Amino acid sequence: TRQQIVAGNWKMNKNYGEGRELAMEIVERLKPSNTQVVLCAPYIHLQLVKNIIKDVASLYLGAQNCHQEDKGAYTGEISVDMLKSVGVSYVILGHSERREYFGESDELLAKKTDKVLAAGLLPIFCCGESLDIRDAGTHVAHVQAQIKAGLFHLSPEEFQKVVIAYEPIWAIGTGRTASPEQAQDMHAAIRALLTDQYGAEIADATTILYGGSVNGGNAAVLFSQPDVDGGLVGGASLKAEEFITIVEATK
Ligand code: 13P
Repeated sequence: TRQQIVAGNWKMNKNYGEGRELAMEIVERLKPSNTQVVLCAPYIHLQLVKNIIKDVASLYLGAQNCHQEDKGAYTGEISVDMLKSVGVSYVILGHSERREYFGESDELLAKKTDKVLAAGLLPIFCCGESLDIRDAGTHVAHVQAQIKAGLFHLSPEEFQKVVIAYEPIWAIGTGRTASPEQAQDMHAAIRALLTDQYGAEIADATTILYGGSVNGGNAAVLFSQPDVDGGLVGGASLKAEEFITIVEATK
């Protein structure tokens, strides 16, 4: 059975004290399970959150981005070595907000993926189509092209470390989630692509998360789809009680 994962992407929310409270409340409420729970906090909260979650086996620390170079004169940026040194395990790459507002290209994301893997960290690689592309009916080709461009230079050994997150842009922060069928169809198309490139064994073992308006009410039906292995959660990850409800909705 595939690893089930629920990752909370806090985005640019919560000041330091609020982040501490949220992490502490998640630790208090979380029940032991095989689902990995990843807290993707803002950079300046990472060390703090690590200290709060460190004794909980199923809780992992995640970052929301990283820089593509090892170190040097890149004012304001954060390297994978810095992330690793405070106990980060996962790094979200290629979130649609990074692609759109910060101009992150497929080529750049391929480089970032290499850096994350070289540091021994695990990428959560995001893909997903806009509403225009969905309406044009080319969404599967679009998402498959993002995955090919960002990840298919990886060897099978490297690719086995990657988590994929399908996040349709029209479902992010809109309250309009993909239907369970739409999510399942895309996840199955992604897995078929992975099977072509890396073979069935690796494809079947790859965790593919759904993201976009996941909440306490819709998580269970989304996660019950055979190719949906958990979620990447934005707004609903900012409330401990609801986030835990989502974690408990995994298979
Ligand atoms: P929402 O859950 O707020 O729609 O955000 C999804 C997302 O972008 C997670 O990375």
